[in-house]
Amino acid sequence: MSALDQLPAFSVGARTMLADEVYGALQQSILDGTVPPDARINAGELARRFDVSPTPVREALARLESDGLVEKLPLRGYRTTDLLDSRQLGELFELRLLLEPDTAGKAAARRTAADVTGLEKEIRAGTSAIAEEDAYRQLSQHDVRLHDLVFRAAHNETVRQAYARTHCHLHTFRLAYTGSYVADTVAEHSAVVAAIVAGEAQQASVAMRTHIERSRDRLLQR
Ligand SMILES: [Zn+2]
Repeated sequence: MSALDQLPAFSVGARTMLADEVYGALQQSILDGTVPPDARINAGELARRFDVSPTPVREALARLESDGLVEKLPLRGYRTTDLLDSRQLGELFELRLLLEPDTAGKAAARRTAADVTGLEKEIRAGTSAIAEEDAYRQLSQHDVRLHDLVFRAAHNETVRQAYARTHCHLHTFRLAYTGSYVADTVAEHSAVVAAIVAGEAQQASVAMRTHIERSRDRLLQR
């Protein structure tokens, strides 16, 4: 049996799925473990499953490859990558600790009115997601947006891109698809945003460091 047999049925009505939708559906299935690590992915089989031509499937696989979620096998299609081991996870968090506390401090000094609006709106989205049935999935999206908004508020596009290229949220999310620490994360995010909004650079930096260290410890406990 192929790992792809586990994929849920996708329906977009009578129209054909777009490359974006194929990408989104596949990414979600890899993140939630429906398609496990080290599973073979056959592009032809996927195209039949999604009832699309090979082109959107190839596009989706190329994007998943740049996410680090699949890798190409010479002449044999693709496989899903392995989960991060604890050493790789430790390295990723070391990088985050180098970048993000400093970035939060800079965000407190450089944020514009539009940055403040965006950050506050994101905290409201995270807070209202806590009570939802699919809180963890929603929270993972909130987490991606929140950290990106802090990078944007620091107005250093080079640093923001360097962080984005690690795709760290995808890899950590894949390690811990279900979690019961939704409320903690949102509370920690709120502390970071409150300090940025208040223009308190030192406090923002400390709040971000605390959040990343706690996120790392929550993941390592699992
Ligand atoms: Zn976070």
